[in-house]
Amino acid sequence: TNSLYAVYGASGCGRGIMPLAKAQLREQGIAAERLVFIDDNPAASLINGHRVLTYDEFLACEASARYAILAIANGNVRETLARRCAADGVNTWSVRAANVITMDDVTVGEGAALSPFVTLTSNIRIGKHFHANLYSYVEHDCIIGDFVTFAPGVKCNGNIHIHDHAYIGADAVIKQGTPDQPLIIGHGAVVGMGAVVTRSVPPGATVVGNPATPIVRK
Ligand code: UDP
Repeated sequence: TNSLYAVYGASGCGRGIMPLAKAQLREQGIAAERLVFIDDNPAASLINGHRVLTYDEFLACEASARYAILAIANGNVRETLARRCAADGVNTWSVRAANVITMDDVTVGEGAALSPFVTLTSNIRIGKHFHANLYSYVEHDCIIGDFVTFAPGVKCNGNIHIHDHAYIGADAVIKQGTPDQPLIIGHGAVVGMGAVVTRSVPPGATVVGNPATPIVRK
């Protein structure tokens, strides 16, 4: 039998990644029937022409090997599902749009989803299960952790370190750091859409506005 491929998550994020996954498999000469959605709470059994299986159904299908890309914007959910997949022998799968640009000395960890018009310039390290949505870029000398999520249009300039599970909202701009003093976005921090981030963000903080400042919860 053949390998079976899946986009895990059949909501907004997954429906944006499915066409990229399909194009990528077509390039490899793999039939579209070998590509399905997985969703644990499916809205329909067929979405945009693709079968939607529950995770258990996916495991029950005949397949010589299984691959899944975790297409859910919430990084904590991705981490949970990554563990589940690893435990069941489901391989991680990376999907990238055909027009993604990567320059010199870029490493991207397993399970990445790189949407159309994403650019990664030079000397960049990126961890596991990264999502870079439409038109996002990562500039030189950035270090990005695991399960980090960029909404569309994120501008991540040079010498920025982003720790695990940070979420960067649409059109946020992050000011460049320096080699000696990188700008740091802490573990699990959230940057609101359109924020102009001019200084480091502490772990777990949510920052919004221009210049971006923490939301103080009352
Ligand atoms: N989902 C799932 N298993 C989980 C958690 C979520 O299959 O453990 C599915 C959920 O049913 C939904 C999708 O993932 O269809 C997440 O969709 P949502 O609209 O919340 O987020 P997005 O698509 O923007 O990441």
